[in-house]
Amino acid sequence: MRETHQCRIHLLPPEIANQIAAGEVVERPASVVKELLENSLDADAHAIEIDIEEGGLRLIRVRDDGSGIHPDDLRLALERHATSKILNFTDLERVTSLGFRGEALPSIASVSRLRLTSRLRGNADAWTLEGGGQQLAPAAHPEGTTVEIHDLFHNTPARRKFLKSVRTEFDHLEEIIRRVALSHIEVAFTLRHNRRPIQTLLAGQGPEGELRRVAAILGENFAAAMLRLDFEAGGLRLWGFAGLPTASRSQPDQQYFYVNGRVIRDRLIAHAARQAYEELLYQGRHPAYVLYLAIDPERIDVNVHPTKHEVRFRDSRTVHEFLMRALRQALATTRPATEITTAVMPTVPTRNRVDRDEYEKVVDFDQEKEPCVDYLRRIPDDESTRNQGKDTPSFQTLSVSPFNFSRQVEEATTPIPPLGYALAQLHGIYILAENIHGLILVDMHAAHERITYERLKAALLGAGLRRQSLLMPITVEVGEQAADLAVERAAELAELGLEVDRLGQGTLLARQVPALLAQGDVAALIKDVLADFAEYGVSTQVSEHFNHLLSTLACHGSVRAQRRLSLSEMNALLRDIEVTQHGSQCTHGRPSWIQLRLADLDRLFLRG
Ligand code: ADP
Ligand code: MG
Repeated sequence: MRETHQCRIHLLPPEIANQIAAGEVVERPASVVKELLENSLDADAHAIEIDIEEGGLRLIRVRDDGSGIHPDDLRLALERHATSKILNFTDLERVTSLGFRGEALPSIASVSRLRLTSRLRGNADAWTLEGGGQQLAPAAHPEGTTVEIHDLFHNTPARRKFLKSVRTEFDHLEEIIRRVALSHIEVAFTLRHNRRPIQTLLAGQGPEGELRRVAAILGENFAAAMLRLDFEAGGLRLWGFAGLPTASRSQPDQQYFYVNGRVIRDRLIAHAARQAYEELLYQGRHPAYVLYLAIDPERIDVNVHPTKHEVRFRDSRTVHEFLMRALRQALATTRPATEITTAVMPTVPTRNRVDRDEYEKVVDFDQEKEPCVDYLRRIPDDESTRNQGKDTPSFQTLSVSPFNFSRQVEEATTPIPPLGYALAQLHGIYILAENIHGLILVDMHAAHERITYERLKAALLGAGLRRQSLLMPITVEVGEQAADLAVERAAELAELGLEVDRLGQGTLLARQVPALLAQGDVAALIKDVLADFAEYGVSTQVSEHFNHLLSTLACHGSVRAQRRLSLSEMNALLRDIEVTQHGSQCTHGRPSWIQLRLADLDRLFLRG
C-alpha cells in the first residue's frame, strides 16, 4: 500500500513558499550577489560597494547610491510578488529592467537573516527593517540602499551542505561581479572580502572607460589582442570586443555576452560565436569576447527562468545569423593593411617593388614536407599568452614610431607596403622584413597556409576548384576501411577536387587533385581527408566540416619550413599576406607574423 500524505488541499504558509522559490533563485552566495547587484542597477546606482565575509556565508552586504525605497514600501519589498518594475502583462512583454519577478528579496530573506536599509532620494532620513520584523527603525544612511544578508542558509542545512569551500564560493561570487561590472561600465564597483579590498573598478565613460574596464576584468593580454566592433542591421545592434586568436583560451571562461544590458548565457549565442571563430581557432581553443546585443525588448522573452540567465529570441534564426555575420565580418578585417594607416606611410624607391609575375611563382611553390603537428604544438597556451603582457611586442599593438626614412626617400615614389620589404630568411623558417615601424618576422608556413586556405575557400565557394589531372597517377596505401570510405564518398571527394580509384583492398589511385595542391604531398592529403571523413561519420555533409577540411587541404599545399626563398619570392609572400583575409593568423590561430618595433628593439638593447 502506498502511504497517503495530506488529503485536503491548503495554501502553503508564505515562508515555505519563499523557501521553495529560493531553491531556484538562491543557489549559492554568488546568486544572492547577482540579485542584489541587479536591484542596485535597476535603482540607477552610480556606485556599488560589496562587502563579503567568509565567501558570503557569514555576510553579503551590497550598498548603493541609487534611488532608494520609500519607507512605506520597505515591508512590501520583502513580500513575494511585490515589485516596482512592472504593473501588468504588457509591461512584462517589454520589460527593460533587470528584475521584474518580485521574488528575489523575499526568497533570500527566507533562507538568511536579511536587513534592508534605505533612504529615498530627496528624503531627509533613512529607515531600516529586519527581515521577519514588522517594525521600521530610523537609521543613518546616505541616499540609496543597503541590503545585508547574514548567515545564508542557516535554516536550510541541506542547501548549506552543497556549498563548496569559502575560496570556491568567493570565486563564483567574483565571477558574477565581473559579469555584472562589464554590463555597466558607467557604474563604479568596489569589492572587499573579510574587510580586505579586492577590486576597485572606477566608473568609466566612452571608449577609454570601456577599454579600462575590459582590461581590468579580462586582463591586459585581451586588451592588447582584441578588436572593437559595432554593427547594426534589421533593428539589431551588436557591439563590444572580440578577442583575436592570440587571446583565445583553453577554457570558454572569457565569454561575456549581454542582451539589453542583461548577463546572458545562451547556447544559441555561444554557437553563433563559435561558428564565427571557426576558421580562426584551432580545435580545442575557445574565443574570448565581450559582446553586447541591443534588441527591441518585444522581440525577446526574458521570463524563461527565475535566474533570468536565459532569454528566448522570438526570431532566433535571424539573431543567430546576424551575430555570426557581424562577428565574422569584424574578424575578417584583422588584416595588417587595416592596422597601419596609410596616411603616415612614407615612400621608398620603386625598385623594391614586386610585380605580379613574381608573385604567381610563389603560389605553387613547395618542396620538403614537414608535419603540421609540429606547428600545432606551438599554439600559445594561457600561461604564455598571459605573460605576453605589454612587454612582448605583438602584431596587434602596432603604433607609429618615429623612424628616419630619409636615406630611402630620395627616389621615393611608391608608399612602403604595410609589411615592408624582405631582408633575409632565417633558418628556412622565418622571413625578416623591414617596414616603417621596424622589423617584421613572418612564419613562412603559417602565412602561406592562410593564403592557400583563403584561395581554396574562395575557389570552392566561387567558380569551384580548378582540378589538375596528374600525369603520373599516385598510388596511396590507406587501409581497407579508408578505401571503402573513399568509394562510398567519392562524390564528396570530387567536390573537393579529388578523384581517386580503388586499386586493391587498401590501395587507392589518385588521378586528379585541386590545381592549387598539385605540388603538395598528394598521398598525405588523401589520407588526411579520409581521416576527417571517418571522424565526422558517414551521415555528415562535407559542408559542415568545410572549414576543417579546408585547413587540412591548405596545410598540405603550403610552403614548408626549410625551403629557401629568393628575396622576390619573400616579397611576394608579404604582399599576399597583406591582401589576404585573416592574413595575420594561420588557420590554427597562431600568428603568421609579428612586428618588432624599433622601440622594442631599443628596449632589448637597453637603448634610450
Ligand atoms: P524585483 O527586482 O524583481 O522587482 P526584488 O525582490 O529583487 O524584486 O525587489 C523588490 C523591490 O524592492 C524592487 O522592485 C524594488 O522596488 C525594491 N528594491 C530592491 N532593492 C532595491 C535597491 N537596491 N534600490 C531601490 N529599490 C530596491
Ligand atoms: Mg530584483
